[in-house]
Amino acid sequence: MPDTWKLKDKSFNKYILNEDIQTKVRELSARINTELDGKVPLFVVVLNGAFIFASDLLKGVTIDCEIAFVKLTSYQGVKSTGVVQQVMGLDLNIKGRTIVIIEDIVDTGLTLEHFLKTLWEMEPAEVKVAACLLKPEAFHSKFPIDYVCFSIPNEFVVGYGLDYDGLGRNSSDIYKIIEG
Ligand code: 5GP
Repeated sequence: MPDTWKLKDKSFNKYILNEDIQTKVRELSARINTELDGKVPLFVVVLNGAFIFASDLLKGVTIDCEIAFVKLTSYQGVKSTGVVQQVMGLDLNIKGRTIVIIEDIVDTGLTLEHFLKTLWEMEPAEVKVAACLLKPEAFHSKFPIDYVCFSIPNEFVVGYGLDYDGLGRNSSDIYKIIEG
């Protein structure tokens, strides 16, 4: 992919290379293999953005586990609307289970906060969160994020599953918006 990428009306610079992502993701898979061994966790992949991260992460998970998908939306363009919708919900009995939510990026934390509330009503034993990216300056919520690959500044990024108005998900590298 080019160093500078134009998607619709915005331009982006190459920011995190795929080889660096792969190193972090491998470390995370190894941690999960050690920490969750014997628990048969249920990984809940948050669509759409987490599909590439989840695919790489779960290929490195070698313990017994199950995988499910949900679809949540709160973003339009480059801004959160603040309204979280569960477009595709979880239709499994998770009572007593260890759940690991797999997210592409945690920004304000609002999307996950809403989803966590719904999950806890289903009485899992524990819920962990794995995020490829975290924006600590924007994060307002109180729940712990157990597994993170990269903490980044409060700037809009695309690639590695993340989109700008539907475009950009297919890049294996992560790009950062050029402001102005
Ligand atoms: P939050 O509710 O934590 O503010 O936002 C979470 C969701 O917003 C993410 O799952 C992702 O879909 C979207 N999001 C947040 N920050 C970014 C960003 O920098 N780039 C893209 N493409 N999406 C983002």
